[in-house]
Amino acid sequence: MHDDHHHDHDHHHDHDHSELSPMDARVRALETILVEKGYVDPAALDVLIETYETKVGPHNGARVVAKAWADPAYHARLLKDATSAIGELGYVGRQGEHMVAVENTPGTHNMVVCTLCSCYPWPVLGLPPVWYKSAPYRAKAVRDPRGVLADFGVTLPAGKEIKVWDSTAEVRYLVLPERPAGTEGWDEARLATLVTRDSMIGTGLASTPEATA
Ligand code: FE
Repeated sequence: MHDDHHHDHDHHHDHDHSELSPMDARVRALETILVEKGYVDPAALDVLIETYETKVGPHNGARVVAKAWADPAYHARLLKDATSAIGELGYVGRQGEHMVAVENTPGTHNMVVCTLCSCYPWPVLGLPPVWYKSAPYRAKAVRDPRGVLADFGVTLPAGKEIKVWDSTAEVRYLVLPERPAGTEGWDEARLATLVTRDSMIGTGLASTPEATA
C-alpha cells in the first residue's frame, strides 16, 4: 500500500475532492501544500479549527444571555462591566478584551456593525458570518437599520428606537435580546436554546417557545 503521508499523526483527509465545493477544494489543496512544505503543523491547524468550530461560538454568548435573563445580579454585572461578567463564565481572549453589553428593551433595539472592517466579539460569538463582513451590511446597518432588519425578516414596532453600535478595535458589543414571553420558570440551559447568534448581533430576535416547540 502506497503511503505518501510524511507525517506520523492521526490526521485523516478525504482525498476524494469530487464532492467538495470549489472553495473547499482550494482550501484543502492549500492546506496540503502548506503541510507538505512544513509551514504548518496539521495538528495545530486542527486545534485552531476545532476551537473556533466547537469551543468558541454563539453557544457561549447564549449562555451569557440566558444567565442574564435568569439571574438579576448577573444581569446587573453584565451591563456594568461586560468583559468581567463574560469572563466569569470563562469566555476570555482575543477580540473580547473590552466587551460592552447593550440591552434591548420594549423601547429600544440595538444592532451591532463594524463599519470599518469586521470587528466582532470572538469569545462569545465565534467567527463572524460572511454577511457581517460584507460592504452592503456595513453600509446599510448605519444608513437604514430598519431596512436591514426587514432583510432579515424582522419587523419591529414602528415606535421602537434602533440604536446602531459601531464596533472598533477597542470595543466589541454584545446585544442582550429581550427575554421571550412564555419562558417564566425556565432554567438557564433551556433559555439558552432560544438565544440565536443574530439576536446577539441585533439582526434578529430571540426565538420564542412556540417557534422552537
Ligand atoms: Fe472591524
